[in-house]
Amino acid sequence: MIPVNEPLLNGNEKKYLIECIDSGWISSEGPFVLEFEKRFSEFVGRKHGVAVANGTVAIDAVIQALDISAGDEVIIPSFTIISCVNAIIRAGAIPVPIDCDLSTWNMDVTQIERMITKKTKAIMVVHIYGLPVDMDPVLQLVEKYKLLLIEDAAEAHGQTYKGQACGSFGDVSTFSFYPNKLITTGEGGMVVTNSDDIANRCRKIRNLCFVPEKRFVHEELGSNYRMTNLQAALGVAQLERVNEFIELKRLMGQTYFELLKDIPDIQLPLNVTPYAQNLFWVYGIVLGDEREEDALNIMQRLAKEGVGTRPFFWPIHEQPVLRRLGLFKNLDCPNAMRIATKGFYIPSGLALTREQQIVVSEVLHSVLSA
Ligand SMILES: *Cc1c(COP(=O)(O)O)cnc(C)c1O
Repeated sequence: MIPVNEPLLNGNEKKYLIECIDSGWISSEGPFVLEFEKRFSEFVGRKHGVAVANGTVAIDAVIQALDISAGDEVIIPSFTIISCVNAIIRAGAIPVPIDCDLSTWNMDVTQIERMITKKTKAIMVVHIYGLPVDMDPVLQLVEKYKLLLIEDAAEAHGQTYKGQACGSFGDVSTFSFYPNKLITTGEGGMVVTNSDDIANRCRKIRNLCFVPEKRFVHEELGSNYRMTNLQAALGVAQLERVNEFIELKRLMGQTYFELLKDIPDIQLPLNVTPYAQNLFWVYGIVLGDEREEDALNIMQRLAKEGVGTRPFFWPIHEQPVLRRLGLFKNLDCPNAMRIATKGFYIPSGLALTREQQIVVSEVLHSVLSA
């Protein structure tokens, strides 16, 4: 079986983990956490980095830190992961999904303005599958309507928009370090920002909102979102190789393009847009209109031939748990629905070899011509 993702852990990962064990620093108190925060925030070009347990709670902490609360509306892409909306819903605020663009799979930024109301407090952008959102129109809207900008850059480590790092656009931005992300800490995430206030609030929320002067007396509710020294040790080792990883992903994307471009009636990821070169965080395929089968059928047949895949995101406006709350009653996002039913991604982890890519291509050719 060729797995859909396998990380590369053959740098200093083992050495730094042994340092943690030998020194006894295995909790969130430990030198690698500060080191990772410092180096990663520098990598993104931000003043602060707040390391947390995963990318989902990074967003949770941000929603709480920005005081997004009952009655507020937050504009989000429909084509994204549920992590983006959990905290918005729990805060009693309303997520407002925007359909995606059919060629980039990112939020269609031309549809945002008509969804802005007096209640809109923030726009959350999510760079999808390694290609950035078209940020200039979003930045104009944020300025015009005085909105907060939240940027989920979990799929865009090392990516840039017109030369500026993804993760440096938001008032606050978040990352994940899950094993399929460009760099991994096993589980892990980070909030990055230039705002002292937002960084301090996230640090408090991450650590149960302890008050330094009065330990175990709390003025606010926080949680335990801390990252361990073990995770951060992995993060420091991974970050040492980030430029190599970026090159590997780009090469992998080019190789897949060359191998798959002759398959009729499928859509491959864009190689370039006017504002970015794709990083191919994962390599997605969308079946064309002439094909009757859905992604699920094709994925099952690929699995039988030993090729691992994952489906595309299921759109937020179609999530049963959110529909049951009475949300999105008259909302239609046909593009997000289309790619959700017709899209899947193929093996694209950093440990994937060229030989494996050739096998994936052979299997795809045979399954998609049958
Ligand atoms: C992976 C991911 C997350 C969630 O990160 P976890 O570390 O798995 O909790 C959030 N947003 C996006 C866009 C992601 O791809």
